[in-house]
Amino acid sequence: MLGLPIFAETLVQLASGATTAKPRPNILFIMTDDHTTQAMSCYGSRINQTPNLDRIAHEGVRMDRVFCTNSICTPSRATILTGKYSHLNGVPVFNRFDGSQPTVAKMLQSAGYYTAMVGKWHLGSDPTGFDYWNILPGQGVYIDPTFYDKAGSQVYKGYVTDIIGDITIETLKNRPKDKPFFMMSHHKAPHREWTPDEKHRKQFEGKHIPEPVTLRDDYAGRTDALHEQQQSVFRDLTRMDLKLTPPPGLSAADRNKWLAVKPTEVEIEVNGQRKVLTGKELEDWKYQRYMQDYLACVQSVDDNVGRVLDWLDANGLRDNTIVIYTSDQGFFLGEHGLFDKRFMYEESLRMPFVARWPNVIRAGTTARAIGINCDFAPTFLDAAGLPTPPDMQGRSFVPVWKGHVPADWRHAMYYRYYHDPGDHNTRAHYGIRTESRKLIYFWKKDQWECYDLKKDPLEMHNIYNDPSQQKVVAALKQQLLALKMQMKDDDQFANEQPKESSYVQAPPPKKM
Ligand code: CA
Repeated sequence: MLGLPIFAETLVQLASGATTAKPRPNILFIMTDDHTTQAMSCYGSRINQTPNLDRIAHEGVRMDRVFCTNSICTPSRATILTGKYSHLNGVPVFNRFDGSQPTVAKMLQSAGYYTAMVGKWHLGSDPTGFDYWNILPGQGVYIDPTFYDKAGSQVYKGYVTDIIGDITIETLKNRPKDKPFFMMSHHKAPHREWTPDEKHRKQFEGKHIPEPVTLRDDYAGRTDALHEQQQSVFRDLTRMDLKLTPPPGLSAADRNKWLAVKPTEVEIEVNGQRKVLTGKELEDWKYQRYMQDYLACVQSVDDNVGRVLDWLDANGLRDNTIVIYTSDQGFFLGEHGLFDKRFMYEESLRMPFVARWPNVIRAGTTARAIGINCDFAPTFLDAAGLPTPPDMQGRSFVPVWKGHVPADWRHAMYYRYYHDPGDHNTRAHYGIRTESRKLIYFWKKDQWECYDLKKDPLEMHNIYNDPSQQKVVAALKQQLLALKMQMKDDDQFANEQPKESSYVQAPPPKKM
């Protein structure tokens, strides 16, 4: 088996008259849902260890400034597939993706790649451009999940992260060996409600997780948005999020109602004694419960990425496979008192992004060039020797990975979040993030925030109204409007609400 795929691919290229004997690389794109750099040890996590994810970074590149252009699940996925901003791919909010449009999967497929997609899809329509797909309907569930493919649906017994690891390896085993592959392996974890498997739940049970310094941010000097949001760790976690057990004997409807309550007091057991938590004691407890479960979910992801890396290495696929690990956006782990994402603040905006490509990327490379999720598709195409279509809005990371940042690389990125009113009452905003500053405009409120990221990396001091900063603010405004225009955003989705929801994705009947 060793080396056979590479050999076969070389033969195909020689037969087609290609002069280079170098085979096109395989691409394994592993993406989780809501995993953030603060919970990844290669990014300096203070709260957990992710040895297998770190392995990719240590053997390849860690990118420190890859940003999501619309920090929310479905829109980010649509951008990754199309290489385009939300306003051009038609997915600014949780609406259904039109799978008839061009995607990177279709381009790689027609260029001779075997294409596969397994795990969480969450685009409301069935995948297109994939030779094989097997996906969770909508959000999917953590325990005994249903998956479906072209033939129908099937319940898999067990924990979803392990199952996606299994299906990934099975799909790689069963792939045609005479083609390079492009595979998207998308995990559900560590998405809300952060249900860990038993092994990792126990590992984190009772463990004390250090708090971020901005957990008790009082939002002084900031706009209305932070005051009005409903994504507060202290206020908005529900009994379900906190894994509280409903009283016995409730009907299904009453049980769901009970679980949806955001508790202001909680009774727990300490050393066999019942104890009622309120006030600061309850707030501290909520943060710990949130983080213990979130980190336990991440640990399963780390284990399963390790299994897949081991399998690639053991099957002669190490050298000619690009392995990427990322997440659909970042996430707040208590920073500014928040959970979830959506806001343009760093923790939510920044995506983890590590990649391994032996003999091309020097081990231990780090990159600070500003990347965006529109760049992923051009990167895959470039690695496969294909040009970037002119209507894609990103550029290939490959030169950056090799340590040669092109002279005309971007120095700023454009961001836009639309879903308002929506879940968590997060206010719509757009903005610009440069190498040293950030300007955010909440357009429905006509309110602005501006941050000096060098002096204030935690984004606690809004300098928008600071008289000494007015030249800086004016220049940033101009830059923002120019970038918005350059990205062809004409405000057509400014008041968009989901029509056909990406959550509604009924699986077909069971397989016979
Ligand atoms: Ca997500």
